[in-house]
Amino acid sequence: MEKYCDKCGTKLNEDAAFCSKCANPVNGTTVTQAKSKIGAGLFGIFLGSLGIHNFYLGYNSKAIAQLLLTVIGWLVCGIGPIVASIWGLIEGIEILAGYIKTDANGVPLVD
Ligand SMILES: [Zn+2]
Repeated sequence: MEKYCDKCGTKLNEDAAFCSKCANPVNGTTVTQAKSKIGAGLFGIFLGSLGIHNFYLGYNSKAIAQLLLTVIGWLVCGIGPIVASIWGLIEGIEILAGYIKTDANGVPLVD
C-alpha cells in the first residue's frame, strides 16, 4: 500500500510517520507539533549552558546534564558553565547546520 502526504503529496514509505519533505504527520500518527529548527538552534547558541534547546527538543537527560553541569560546575570550580556553554553552542550550530534533524521523538525539525 502506498502512502502520500496529504499536505504536499510526497510519496512516503509505508511505515513513515512523518512526511520526509514537509514533516506533516501521516494519517494515524499522533500529532506532535514539529519544533522549529531556528528556534532550537538559537536556544542552543544563547541558552545552551542551561540545556534549553534540549528541553525544547525533548532530549531531557541531555538537557539535565547540561543544566547540572552549569549549576554544580559553577559551585564547584567555575569550569562547568564554560563547558556547558560550548557544548550548547556546538549543538546549536549542529541543529542549524542540519546535523541534528529531529527532536527526541523523531519528529523532523521544520525551518
Ligand atoms: Zn508533506
